[in-house]
Amino acid sequence: MGIKLKFLGAVREVTGSNHLITTDISKVIIDCGLFQGRRQDFFEKNSKFDFIPGELDACILSHAHIDHSGNIPNLVKQGFDGRIITTDPTRDLCSAMLPDSGHIQESDAKYVSKLHKKKGLPPVKPIYTKEEAEESLEFFTGHPYNQRVNVTDDIDVTFYDAGHVLGSATPLIEIGGGDNPVNLAYAVDLGRKDIPILNDPDQPPGIDWLILESTYGGRVHDPIESGKDKLSDCISRTVKRGGKIIIPSFALERTQEIVYFLNQLRLENRLPDIPVIIDSPLATRVTKIFSHHPQVYDEEMYRSFNTGEDPLGTINFEYVKDVERSKELNSDDRPMIIVSASGMCEAGRILHHLKNNIEDPRNTVLVVGFMARNTLGRRIVERHPVVKIFGEKYNLKAEVEIMNAFSSHADRNDLLEYVKPLKDTVKGIFLVHGEEEQSRELLKTLAADGYPVHLPEPDEEVELS
Ligand SMILES: [Zn+2]
Ligand SMILES: [Zn+2]
Repeated sequence: MGIKLKFLGAVREVTGSNHLITTDISKVIIDCGLFQGRRQDFFEKNSKFDFIPGELDACILSHAHIDHSGNIPNLVKQGFDGRIITTDPTRDLCSAMLPDSGHIQESDAKYVSKLHKKKGLPPVKPIYTKEEAEESLEFFTGHPYNQRVNVTDDIDVTFYDAGHVLGSATPLIEIGGGDNPVNLAYAVDLGRKDIPILNDPDQPPGIDWLILESTYGGRVHDPIESGKDKLSDCISRTVKRGGKIIIPSFALERTQEIVYFLNQLRLENRLPDIPVIIDSPLATRVTKIFSHHPQVYDEEMYRSFNTGEDPLGTINFEYVKDVERSKELNSDDRPMIIVSASGMCEAGRILHHLKNNIEDPRNTVLVVGFMARNTLGRRIVERHPVVKIFGEKYNLKAEVEIMNAFSSHADRNDLLEYVKPLKDTVKGIFLVHGEEEQSRELLKTLAADGYPVHLPEPDEEVELS
Protein backbone atom coordinates (compact mmCIF):
# COMPACT_ATOMS: atom_id res chain seq x y z
CA MET A 1 0.00 0.00 0.00
CA GLY A 2 2.87 2.41 0.68
CA ILE A 3 2.62 5.68 2.56
CA LYS A 4 -0.40 7.88 2.09
CA LEU A 5 -1.00 11.41 3.25
CA LYS A 6 -4.50 12.87 3.23
CA PHE A 7 -5.18 16.58 3.69
CA LEU A 8 -8.33 16.80 5.76
CA GLY A 9 -8.37 20.22 7.37
CA ALA A 10 -6.96 23.75 6.93
CA VAL A 11 -6.86 23.01 3.21
CA ARG A 12 -7.38 26.20 1.21
CA GLU A 13 -8.37 27.82 4.50
CA VAL A 14 -6.63 28.67 7.73
CA THR A 15 -8.35 26.90 10.60
CA GLY A 16 -9.10 23.27 11.43
CA SER A 17 -5.65 21.73 10.80
CA ASN A 18 -5.88 17.96 10.39
CA HIS A 19 -3.98 15.49 8.18
CA LEU A 20 -3.87 11.70 8.08
CA ILE A 21 -0.86 9.46 7.48
CA THR A 22 -1.64 5.85 6.57
CA THR A 23 0.90 3.06 6.13
CA ASP A 24 0.44 -0.72 5.90
CA ILE A 25 0.39 -0.94 9.68
CA SER A 26 -0.24 2.55 11.08
CA LYS A 27 -2.79 5.32 11.07
CA VAL A 28 -1.60 8.57 12.59
CA ILE A 29 -3.00 12.08 12.38
CA ILE A 30 -1.11 15.34 12.52
CA ASP A 31 -3.04 17.97 14.49
CA CYS A 32 -6.73 17.87 15.29
CA GLY A 33 -7.80 21.50 15.21
CA LEU A 34 -11.12 23.25 15.43
CA PHE A 35 -12.46 24.92 12.34
CA GLN A 36 -13.42 28.50 13.25
CA GLY A 37 -15.99 30.54 11.36
CA ARG A 38 -19.76 30.78 11.01
CA ARG A 39 -21.66 29.01 13.76
CA GLN A 40 -23.47 26.61 11.42
CA ASP A 41 -20.19 25.58 9.71
CA PHE A 42 -18.54 25.29 13.11
CA PHE A 43 -20.99 22.60 14.18
CA GLU A 44 -21.00 20.78 10.86
CA LYS A 45 -17.29 20.75 10.22
CA ASN A 46 -16.14 19.99 13.75
CA SER A 47 -18.57 17.36 14.87
CA LYS A 48 -17.59 14.62 12.38
CA PHE A 49 -14.26 13.12 11.38
CA ASP A 50 -13.19 11.68 8.03
CA PHE A 51 -11.78 8.62 9.77
CA ILE A 52 -12.79 6.37 12.63
CA PRO A 53 -11.10 7.85 15.73
CA GLY A 54 -10.85 4.44 17.42
CA GLU A 55 -8.75 3.13 14.52
CA LEU A 56 -6.01 5.73 14.93
CA ASP A 57 -2.74 4.83 16.62
CA ALA A 58 -1.69 8.32 17.60
CA CYS A 59 -1.98 12.06 17.05
CA ILE A 60 1.14 14.16 16.54
CA LEU A 61 0.41 17.68 17.75
CA SER A 62 2.38 20.71 16.49
CA HIS A 63 1.26 23.31 19.04
CA ALA A 64 -1.47 24.37 21.43
CA HIS A 65 -3.40 26.88 19.30
CA ILE A 66 -7.04 25.82 19.15
CA ASP A 67 -7.08 25.63 15.35
CA HIS A 68 -4.50 22.82 15.76
CA SER A 69 -5.44 21.16 19.06
CA GLY A 70 -9.05 22.20 19.65
CA ASN A 71 -10.86 19.12 18.36
CA ILE A 72 -8.83 16.61 20.39
CA PRO A 73 -11.49 16.33 23.15
CA ASN A 74 -14.03 15.41 20.48
CA LEU A 75 -11.59 12.87 19.03
CA VAL A 76 -11.32 11.21 22.44
CA LYS A 77 -15.07 11.48 22.97
CA GLN A 78 -15.56 9.57 19.71
CA GLY A 79 -13.35 6.67 20.69
CA PHE A 80 -9.70 7.64 20.16
CA ASP A 81 -7.52 5.96 22.77
CA GLY A 82 -4.01 6.37 21.41
CA ARG A 83 -1.35 8.84 22.50
CA ILE A 84 -1.33 12.54 21.71
CA ILE A 85 2.36 13.14 21.21
CA THR A 86 3.66 16.67 21.58
CA THR A 87 6.19 18.88 23.40
CA ASP A 88 6.15 19.44 27.18
CA PRO A 89 4.97 23.09 27.03
CA THR A 90 2.24 22.20 24.50
CA ARG A 91 0.91 19.47 26.79
CA ASP A 92 0.75 21.95 29.69
CA LEU A 93 -0.79 24.70 27.57
CA CYS A 94 -3.48 22.32 26.30
CA SER A 95 -4.42 21.55 29.88
CA ALA A 96 -5.55 25.18 30.13
CA MET A 97 -6.70 25.85 26.57
CA LEU A 98 -8.88 22.80 25.89
CA PRO A 99 -11.07 23.02 29.02
CA ASP A 100 -11.47 26.73 28.23
CA SER A 101 -12.60 25.83 24.72
CA GLY A 102 -15.08 23.31 26.18
CA HIS A 103 -16.41 26.01 28.48
CA ILE A 104 -16.87 28.46 25.58
CA GLN A 105 -18.75 25.82 23.62
CA GLU A 106 -21.02 25.02 26.53
CA SER A 107 -21.98 28.68 26.96
CA ASP A 108 -22.40 29.08 23.22
CA ALA A 109 -24.66 26.02 23.02
CA LYS A 110 -26.73 27.39 25.90
CA TYR A 111 -27.11 30.72 24.08
CA VAL A 112 -28.09 29.10 20.77
CA SER A 113 -30.52 26.73 22.51
CA LYS A 114 -32.25 29.74 24.03
CA LEU A 115 -32.66 31.32 20.59
CA HIS A 116 -33.85 27.99 19.22
CA LYS A 117 -36.44 27.67 21.96
CA LYS A 118 -38.00 30.97 20.91
CA LYS A 119 -38.30 29.64 17.37
CA GLY A 120 -39.60 26.25 18.47
CA LEU A 121 -36.39 24.49 17.37
CA PRO A 122 -34.61 21.74 19.33
CA PRO A 123 -31.71 22.66 21.66
CA VAL A 124 -28.10 22.22 20.48
CA LYS A 125 -25.25 20.43 22.22
CA PRO A 126 -21.63 21.60 22.49
CA ILE A 127 -19.08 19.66 20.40
CA TYR A 128 -17.54 18.83 23.77
CA THR A 129 -17.82 20.08 27.32
CA LYS A 130 -15.20 21.37 29.71
CA GLU A 131 -15.31 18.05 31.52
CA GLU A 132 -14.80 16.09 28.29
CA ALA A 133 -11.84 18.32 27.49
CA GLU A 134 -10.36 17.54 30.88
CA GLU A 135 -10.81 13.82 30.25
CA SER A 136 -8.82 14.05 27.02
CA LEU A 137 -5.75 15.40 28.81
CA GLU A 138 -4.68 11.99 30.12
CA PHE A 139 -3.85 10.91 26.55
CA PHE A 140 -1.15 13.59 26.16
CA THR A 141 2.53 12.78 26.38
CA GLY A 142 5.02 15.68 26.43
CA HIS A 143 8.55 15.47 25.06
CA PRO A 144 11.57 17.76 24.77
CA TYR A 145 12.71 19.23 21.45
CA ASN A 146 15.25 17.34 19.34
CA GLN A 147 14.56 13.92 20.82
CA ARG A 148 13.27 11.07 18.67
CA VAL A 149 9.98 9.61 19.94
CA ASN A 150 8.65 6.27 18.79
CA VAL A 151 5.05 6.63 17.57
CA THR A 152 4.23 3.22 16.02
CA ASP A 153 6.23 0.26 14.65
CA ASP A 154 6.96 2.20 11.46
CA ILE A 155 6.69 5.87 12.50
CA ASP A 156 8.97 8.05 14.66
CA VAL A 157 8.78 11.76 15.34
CA THR A 158 11.24 14.43 16.45
CA PHE A 159 10.05 17.91 17.43
CA TYR A 160 12.09 20.91 16.25
CA ASP A 161 11.37 24.37 17.63
CA ALA A 162 9.00 26.20 15.24
CA GLY A 163 9.49 29.59 16.96
CA HIS A 164 5.76 30.33 16.66
CA VAL A 165 4.34 30.02 20.18
CA LEU A 166 5.66 28.51 23.41
CA GLY A 167 6.25 24.79 22.79
CA SER A 168 5.43 24.99 19.09
CA ALA A 169 7.15 22.44 16.92
CA THR A 170 7.91 21.46 13.38
CA PRO A 171 7.61 17.69 13.75
CA LEU A 172 9.91 15.65 11.53
CA ILE A 173 7.97 12.43 10.96
CA GLU A 174 10.06 9.44 9.85
CA ILE A 175 7.74 6.99 8.14
CA GLY A 176 8.29 3.42 7.00
CA GLY A 177 10.82 2.28 9.58
CA GLY A 178 14.19 0.74 8.73
CA ASP A 179 17.33 2.61 7.72
CA ASN A 180 15.77 4.64 4.99
CA PRO A 181 12.49 6.16 6.18
CA VAL A 182 10.52 8.79 4.30
CA ASN A 183 10.95 12.11 6.11
CA LEU A 184 7.90 14.32 6.27
CA ALA A 185 8.20 17.72 7.98
CA TYR A 186 5.17 19.70 9.10
CA ALA A 187 5.93 23.43 9.27
CA VAL A 188 2.43 24.51 10.29
CA ASP A 189 2.51 26.96 11.99
CA LEU A 190 5.92 28.38 11.32
CA GLY A 191 7.20 31.32 13.37
CA ARG A 192 9.49 34.21 12.50
CA LYS A 193 12.96 35.23 13.53
CA ASP A 194 13.22 37.64 16.47
CA ILE A 195 9.80 36.96 18.02
CA PRO A 196 10.21 37.96 21.66
CA ILE A 197 10.43 35.20 24.28
CA LEU A 198 11.04 32.43 21.71
CA ASN A 199 14.00 31.04 19.83
CA ASP A 200 14.15 31.42 16.05
CA PRO A 201 12.56 28.63 13.98
CA ASP A 202 14.73 25.57 13.63
CA GLN A 203 14.56 23.51 10.44
CA PRO A 204 14.64 19.70 10.75
CA PRO A 205 17.38 17.96 8.76
CA GLY A 206 16.80 15.59 5.85
CA ILE A 207 13.34 16.72 4.75
CA ASP A 208 11.92 14.70 1.81
CA TRP A 209 8.40 16.11 1.89
CA LEU A 210 7.22 19.34 3.45
CA ILE A 211 3.76 20.47 4.52
CA LEU A 212 4.04 24.24 4.76
CA GLU A 213 1.68 26.90 6.06
CA SER A 214 0.80 29.80 3.78
CA THR A 215 -1.25 32.13 5.98
CA TYR A 216 0.79 35.06 4.69
CA GLY A 217 1.92 33.53 1.39
CA GLY A 218 1.35 36.82 -0.37
CA ARG A 219 2.11 39.34 2.34
CA VAL A 220 5.11 40.83 4.06
CA HIS A 221 4.96 41.92 7.72
CA ASP A 222 6.51 45.03 9.21
CA PRO A 223 9.66 44.22 11.17
CA ILE A 224 8.91 43.15 14.76
CA GLU A 225 11.05 45.97 16.19
CA SER A 226 8.91 48.60 14.41
CA GLY A 227 5.90 47.25 16.30
CA LYS A 228 7.17 48.64 19.56
CA ASP A 229 7.30 52.22 18.22
CA LYS A 230 3.92 51.90 16.60
CA LEU A 231 2.49 50.51 19.83
CA SER A 232 3.96 53.42 21.76
CA ASP A 233 2.54 55.99 19.26
CA CYS A 234 -0.88 54.38 19.34
CA ILE A 235 -0.96 54.46 23.15
CA SER A 236 0.16 58.12 23.38
CA ARG A 237 -2.34 59.25 20.78
CA THR A 238 -5.25 57.47 22.48
CA VAL A 239 -4.30 58.60 25.97
CA LYS A 240 -4.12 62.21 24.73
CA ARG A 241 -7.73 61.87 23.59
CA GLY A 242 -8.61 60.47 27.01
CA GLY A 243 -9.48 57.10 25.48
CA LYS A 244 -8.91 53.43 26.21
CA ILE A 245 -6.82 51.05 24.15
CA ILE A 246 -8.63 47.75 23.66
CA ILE A 247 -6.44 44.94 22.38
CA PRO A 248 -8.17 41.71 21.33
CA SER A 249 -5.49 39.11 21.72
CA PHE A 250 -4.98 35.37 21.63
CA ALA A 251 -4.48 34.19 25.18
CA LEU A 252 -1.52 32.13 24.04
CA GLU A 253 1.63 33.94 22.93
CA ARG A 254 0.23 37.18 21.49
CA THR A 255 -0.83 38.32 24.94
CA GLN A 256 2.56 37.48 26.43
CA GLU A 257 4.32 39.22 23.52
CA ILE A 258 2.22 42.37 23.86
CA VAL A 259 2.86 42.35 27.60
CA TYR A 260 6.56 41.83 26.93
CA PHE A 261 6.65 44.92 24.67
CA LEU A 262 4.53 46.98 27.07
CA ASN A 263 6.96 46.08 29.82
CA GLN A 264 9.89 47.12 27.64
CA LEU A 265 8.18 50.46 26.98
CA ARG A 266 7.70 50.77 30.73
CA LEU A 267 11.38 50.12 31.39
CA GLU A 268 12.28 52.72 28.74
CA ASN A 269 9.91 55.25 30.34
CA ARG A 270 7.80 55.32 27.20
CA LEU A 271 4.61 53.98 28.77
CA PRO A 272 2.22 56.61 30.19
CA ASP A 273 1.22 56.04 33.79
CA ILE A 274 -2.06 54.26 33.06
CA PRO A 275 -3.37 50.88 34.18
CA VAL A 276 -2.40 47.92 32.00
CA ILE A 277 -4.98 45.20 32.44
CA ILE A 278 -4.91 41.68 31.09
CA ASP A 279 -8.54 40.71 31.43
CA SER A 280 -8.60 37.02 30.64
CA PRO A 281 -8.63 34.07 33.03
CA LEU A 282 -7.15 31.92 30.26
CA ALA A 283 -4.32 34.36 29.50
CA THR A 284 -3.60 34.49 33.23
CA ARG A 285 -3.28 30.70 33.38
CA VAL A 286 -1.28 30.54 30.16
CA THR A 287 1.14 33.20 31.41
CA LYS A 288 1.72 31.10 34.52
CA ILE A 289 2.55 28.11 32.30
CA PHE A 290 5.06 30.29 30.43
CA SER A 291 6.89 30.82 33.68
CA HIS A 292 7.20 27.03 34.12
CA HIS A 293 9.13 26.53 30.89
CA PRO A 294 12.18 28.82 30.88
CA GLN A 295 14.10 25.98 29.16
CA VAL A 296 12.55 27.02 25.82
CA TYR A 297 13.02 30.81 26.16
CA ASP A 298 15.42 32.72 23.94
CA GLU A 299 18.49 34.24 25.59
CA GLU A 300 17.06 37.71 26.14
CA MET A 301 13.90 36.43 27.78
CA TYR A 302 15.85 33.98 29.89
CA ARG A 303 18.05 36.79 31.22
CA SER A 304 15.15 39.14 31.75
CA PHE A 305 13.17 36.42 33.56
CA ASN A 306 16.09 35.61 35.84
CA THR A 307 16.98 39.21 36.69
CA GLY A 308 13.47 40.17 37.82
CA GLU A 309 12.67 42.58 34.98
CA ASP A 310 9.07 41.32 35.07
CA PRO A 311 8.92 40.48 31.34
CA LEU A 312 5.46 38.91 31.68
CA GLY A 313 4.08 41.83 33.68
CA THR A 314 2.99 39.75 36.64
CA ILE A 315 4.11 42.45 39.10
CA ASN A 316 3.56 45.75 37.30
CA PHE A 317 0.42 44.95 35.33
CA GLU A 318 -2.90 43.61 36.51
CA TYR A 319 -4.07 40.14 35.51
CA VAL A 320 -7.80 39.78 36.01
CA LYS A 321 -9.43 36.41 36.63
CA ASP A 322 -12.42 37.55 38.63
CA VAL A 323 -15.54 38.43 36.64
CA GLU A 324 -16.63 41.17 39.08
CA ARG A 325 -13.35 43.00 38.59
CA SER A 326 -13.77 42.63 34.84
CA LYS A 327 -17.22 44.24 35.06
CA GLU A 328 -15.84 47.13 37.14
CA LEU A 329 -13.68 48.09 34.18
CA ASN A 330 -16.83 49.01 32.22
CA SER A 331 -17.56 51.95 34.48
CA ASP A 332 -13.95 53.07 34.84
CA ASP A 333 -13.53 56.12 32.62
CA ARG A 334 -9.78 56.55 32.92
CA PRO A 335 -7.50 55.91 29.96
CA MET A 336 -6.17 52.38 30.23
CA ILE A 337 -4.92 49.47 28.20
CA ILE A 338 -7.11 46.36 28.21
CA VAL A 339 -5.75 43.20 26.65
CA SER A 340 -8.45 40.56 26.42
CA ALA A 341 -9.43 37.37 24.59
CA SER A 342 -10.65 35.91 22.32
CA GLY A 343 -8.20 36.94 19.65
CA MET A 344 -10.72 36.97 16.82
CA CYS A 345 -13.43 38.60 18.97
CA GLU A 346 -15.69 35.57 18.73
CA ALA A 347 -16.16 34.87 22.43
CA GLY A 348 -14.98 35.82 25.88
CA ARG A 349 -14.60 39.08 27.75
CA ILE A 350 -13.32 41.03 24.76
CA LEU A 351 -16.92 41.17 23.52
CA HIS A 352 -17.98 43.17 26.59
CA HIS A 353 -15.07 45.56 26.20
CA LEU A 354 -15.82 46.09 22.52
CA LYS A 355 -19.52 46.58 23.18
CA ASN A 356 -18.74 49.22 25.81
CA ASN A 357 -16.02 51.03 23.94
CA ILE A 358 -16.31 50.91 20.15
CA GLU A 359 -18.90 53.67 19.91
CA ASP A 360 -16.56 56.22 21.52
CA PRO A 361 -14.19 57.90 19.02
CA ARG A 362 -11.66 58.59 21.79
CA ASN A 363 -10.92 54.87 22.09
CA THR A 364 -8.76 52.64 19.93
CA VAL A 365 -9.22 49.01 19.00
CA LEU A 366 -5.71 47.77 18.39
CA VAL A 367 -5.66 44.66 16.21
CA VAL A 368 -2.52 42.61 16.69
CA GLY A 369 -3.44 39.20 15.27
CA PHE A 370 -4.96 37.30 12.40
CA MET A 371 -8.72 37.65 11.99
CA ALA A 372 -10.37 34.84 10.05
CA ARG A 373 -13.23 35.41 7.64
CA ASN A 374 -16.70 35.82 9.11
CA THR A 375 -15.44 36.76 12.56
CA LEU A 376 -16.26 39.99 14.39
CA GLY A 377 -12.52 40.72 14.41
CA ARG A 378 -12.44 40.62 10.62
CA ARG A 379 -15.41 43.01 10.40
CA ILE A 380 -13.58 45.42 12.70
CA VAL A 381 -10.43 45.14 10.57
CA GLU A 382 -12.56 45.91 7.51
CA ARG A 383 -14.01 48.85 9.44
CA HIS A 384 -17.66 48.00 8.90
CA PRO A 385 -19.50 51.12 10.16
CA VAL A 386 -21.98 48.95 12.09
CA VAL A 387 -21.09 45.65 13.76
CA LYS A 388 -23.18 43.17 15.71
CA ILE A 389 -22.17 42.14 19.21
CA PHE A 390 -24.38 39.76 21.21
CA GLY A 391 -27.00 40.21 18.50
CA GLU A 392 -27.18 44.01 18.90
CA LYS A 393 -25.96 46.64 16.46
CA TYR A 394 -23.14 49.02 17.44
CA ASN A 395 -21.59 51.91 15.52
CA LEU A 396 -17.87 51.44 15.08
CA LYS A 397 -16.57 54.92 15.90
CA ALA A 398 -13.37 54.06 17.77
CA GLU A 399 -10.09 54.26 15.91
CA VAL A 400 -9.02 50.91 14.47
CA GLU A 401 -5.27 50.43 14.29
CA ILE A 402 -3.89 47.31 12.66
CA MET A 403 -0.42 46.12 13.48
CA ASN A 404 0.93 43.10 11.70
CA ALA A 405 4.42 43.57 13.15
CA PHE A 406 3.47 41.28 16.03
CA SER A 407 2.45 38.40 13.82
CA SER A 408 3.96 35.12 14.97
CA HIS A 409 3.55 33.61 11.50
CA ALA A 410 6.27 33.54 8.88
CA ASP A 411 5.45 36.02 6.11
CA ARG A 412 6.03 35.52 2.40
CA ASN A 413 9.73 36.35 2.60
CA ASP A 414 10.27 34.11 5.63
CA LEU A 415 8.55 31.22 3.84
CA LEU A 416 10.67 31.67 0.70
CA GLU A 417 13.77 31.84 2.86
CA TYR A 418 12.71 28.69 4.75
CA VAL A 419 12.43 26.50 1.65
CA LYS A 420 15.69 27.70 0.05
CA PRO A 421 17.98 25.09 1.66
CA LEU A 422 15.59 22.36 0.45
CA LYS A 423 15.63 23.44 -3.19
CA ASP A 424 17.59 20.52 -4.63
CA THR A 425 16.43 17.77 -2.33
CA VAL A 426 12.77 18.20 -1.43
CA LYS A 427 10.43 15.84 -3.30
CA GLY A 428 7.32 17.89 -2.76
CA ILE A 429 5.99 20.91 -0.87
CA PHE A 430 2.28 20.96 0.04
CA LEU A 431 0.76 24.32 0.86
CA VAL A 432 -1.95 24.35 3.52
CA HIS A 433 -3.19 26.72 6.26
CA GLY A 434 -3.89 29.73 4.05
CA GLU A 435 -6.83 31.41 2.40
CA GLU A 436 -6.70 30.41 -1.23
CA GLU A 437 -5.41 33.68 -2.69
CA GLN A 438 -2.54 33.76 -0.16
CA SER A 439 -1.57 30.15 -0.90
CA ARG A 440 -1.80 30.75 -4.65
CA GLU A 441 0.61 33.67 -4.52
CA LEU A 442 3.19 31.53 -2.78
CA LEU A 443 2.46 28.63 -5.12
CA LYS A 444 3.10 30.83 -8.16
CA THR A 445 6.46 32.06 -6.91
CA LEU A 446 7.67 28.64 -5.76
CA ALA A 447 6.56 26.97 -9.00
CA ALA A 448 8.31 29.67 -11.07
CA ASP A 449 11.48 29.04 -9.05
CA GLY A 450 11.28 25.34 -9.93
CA TYR A 451 10.10 23.89 -6.61
CA PRO A 452 7.88 20.78 -6.74
CA VAL A 453 4.98 22.57 -5.05
CA HIS A 454 1.33 21.58 -4.82
CA LEU A 455 -1.83 23.14 -3.41
CA PRO A 456 -3.97 20.19 -2.30
CA GLU A 457 -7.74 20.02 -2.70
CA PRO A 458 -9.74 19.35 0.47
CA ASP A 459 -9.59 15.59 1.23
CA GLU A 460 -6.99 14.95 -1.48
CA GLU A 461 -4.73 11.99 -0.83
CA VAL A 462 -1.16 11.71 -2.11
CA GLU A 463 1.38 8.94 -2.00
CA LEU A 464 4.81 9.58 -0.45
CA SER A 465 7.89 7.61 -1.42
ZN1 LIG B 1 -0.59 28.73 15.58
ZN1 LIG C 1 -2.67 27.86 12.90
